[in-house]
Amino acid sequence: MVKALVLEEKLKLNLRDIEVDEQLGPRDVRIQMKTVGVCGSDVHYYTHGGIGKFIVREPMILGHEASGVVIETGSEVSHLKVGDRVCMEPGIPDPNSRASRLGMYNLDPAVVFWATPPVHGCLRPTVVFPADYTFKIPDNVSFEEAAMVEPLAVGVHGTVKARVMPGDTAVVIGAGPIGLVTVLAAFAAGCAKVYVADVDEGKLALAEKLAKVPGSIVGVDVRSKSIEDVVMADTDGWGADIVFECSGNEKAAPGGFKPLRPGGCVVFIGMPLHDVAYDVPGAALKEARVEHVFRYAHVYPRCIAMMASGAIDVKPLITDKFPFEKSVEAFEYAATSPKGSVKIQIDM
Ligand SMILES: [Zn+2]
Repeated sequence: MVKALVLEEKLKLNLRDIEVDEQLGPRDVRIQMKTVGVCGSDVHYYTHGGIGKFIVREPMILGHEASGVVIETGSEVSHLKVGDRVCMEPGIPDPNSRASRLGMYNLDPAVVFWATPPVHGCLRPTVVFPADYTFKIPDNVSFEEAAMVEPLAVGVHGTVKARVMPGDTAVVIGAGPIGLVTVLAAFAAGCAKVYVADVDEGKLALAEKLAKVPGSIVGVDVRSKSIEDVVMADTDGWGADIVFECSGNEKAAPGGFKPLRPGGCVVFIGMPLHDVAYDVPGAALKEARVEHVFRYAHVYPRCIAMMASGAIDVKPLITDKFPFEKSVEAFEYAATSPKGSVKIQIDM
């Protein structure tokens, strides 16, 4: 039995003992958890009991944004040892699946992902995990930062899909955790200026503070002005090279084509709960390139390297911390979408 944060059913969370069957296989490591981030998906399972076809039908441990320390290694593990500080890529594909063989392991339909029903997540003292999806972190990256690699990976994967060019201007729609990690990823990929659209002035202020050079990040409160007007005025009517749609909001998402330049790229990162209709003729007039992102693939080592080099600093995004004993409160707090709060983390 282990003590874990268990989602029993919609709106019913308990910190309680639960039976978890975990054998250490030859290619696994056992990890003592240090920090676990609260993700929008965890909160959505809590408030709605499911996401799309993934329905919580039996008690499930939440959490998938994690860092920790290796405390045991399987007999065939050579790249990790006891005491290594690590973070984990929470989706484990079948390496022989057709998608994996094509390099798109994140799209393997059989992927096993933490805290996606019926798979238990990692809000518990220890986990057994495949060493191949466990990444060593350098001394100058904290456990808190390492637990941010998971959301950061989404933004970095988005910039890879966008094929950012040096000096690009980008728009990020939505200043939640994924929007803000995408802002950081966009600069690290070479963007020179990023506009951020949201309706929460606290999040916009935080976004602007991420700028290494004042003015290179422009927050746009879309309650009072349109992102299209602002970007077009600043670019002589040309538009932004890339638009990252990170809101997942069905009303906001189709607007991503409006501030785009001819030949630009819209990357859909935020996951809407329903279909989104967009202006195909308008997008055609610009020959817009459209990309989609589902989680990430092949970017964990890049994220860790950029944190270590200082190219990306995620620390300002960690706005709230709770001890493990108060993880139910952490979720109750997260469910209220507190203003100015970006990433809530649980200290294990
Ligand atoms: Zn997440």
